[in-house]
Amino acid sequence: MINTTVNHKATKIQSKPAIGDRRPPFLVMDNVQKVYPNGYRALENINLNVSEGEFITIIGHSGCGKSTLLNMVSGFSHPSSGSVTINGQQIVKPGPDRMVVFQGYALLPWRTVFENVYIAVNAVFPEKSKVEKNAIVKEHLAMVGLTEAAEKRPPQISGGMKQRVSIARALAIRPQVLILDEPFGALDAITKEELQEELLKIWNDHRCTVLMITHDIDEALFLADRLVMMTNGPAATIGEVLEIPFPRPRDRVQIMEDPEYYNLRNYALDFLFRRFAHDHDA
Ligand code: ADP
Ligand code: MG
Repeated sequence: MINTTVNHKATKIQSKPAIGDRRPPFLVMDNVQKVYPNGYRALENINLNVSEGEFITIIGHSGCGKSTLLNMVSGFSHPSSGSVTINGQQIVKPGPDRMVVFQGYALLPWRTVFENVYIAVNAVFPEKSKVEKNAIVKEHLAMVGLTEAAEKRPPQISGGMKQRVSIARALAIRPQVLILDEPFGALDAITKEELQEELLKIWNDHRCTVLMITHDIDEALFLADRLVMMTNGPAATIGEVLEIPFPRPRDRVQIMEDPEYYNLRNYALDFLFRRFAHDHDA
């Protein structure tokens, strides 16, 4: 049964880190500001509390600072002021507790699918035996339906399969946080929907915390517990956070028959294309 009692009036504007939480804070962005060395003020006044196991999607116009924000969670970049913490610990550098999947797959083309995952597992779990490491790789390739493709190399497989390899590689490390930066942006619609459903299944089993950037509002609504909508830069910030109330496991057809889906969708479209229209859209 789809819950139609919650409508977009339940929207919460996040002005303080404490808002929107049902569980104790896990990942906390506290008054984060990012100014690049060239003086460009990318982000300002970013406050967000993410609970452990939550699925967050992030939308905003190109160049608003979505990757900048998640780079501070992965540890590739640091806030100019404010802090990003996990369980109260400041993030100082990249680590295997936070794995990133990019649109560009980032696979080693001369290595097999199996080896691409194995190399990561070997780097993070050097103390495990070869048998254990092989088992981890096999388990995660099976999870994304790539058992048959294990001995192929990236140039021999499709874009969807490559993205499955990157997801398997990220998850084989057993990260606490999975960071996805427009991972399905280059894929055709059908492959994308398949991968979204696989991702939800995997997330349901692993229960890691997911932060995912997307430019696809339907994808953002189908996947998320909460949808973070960003304003435009310079000095971009979190404009609003939408709670996505559909029960799980989610059924795409059922959701798309729910009038609440269109309320949320229109609300997000209105945010992006009217209230925070990009210069280029106006
Ligand atoms: P998004 O991921 O939302 O498309 P980004 O986070 O990549 O946006 O970039 C946000 C803004 O910061 C853009 O205007 C971009 O040009 C700028 N920017 C990104 N990286 C740097 C950098 N290293 N130095 C200066 N400006 C940067
Ligand atoms: Mg980006």
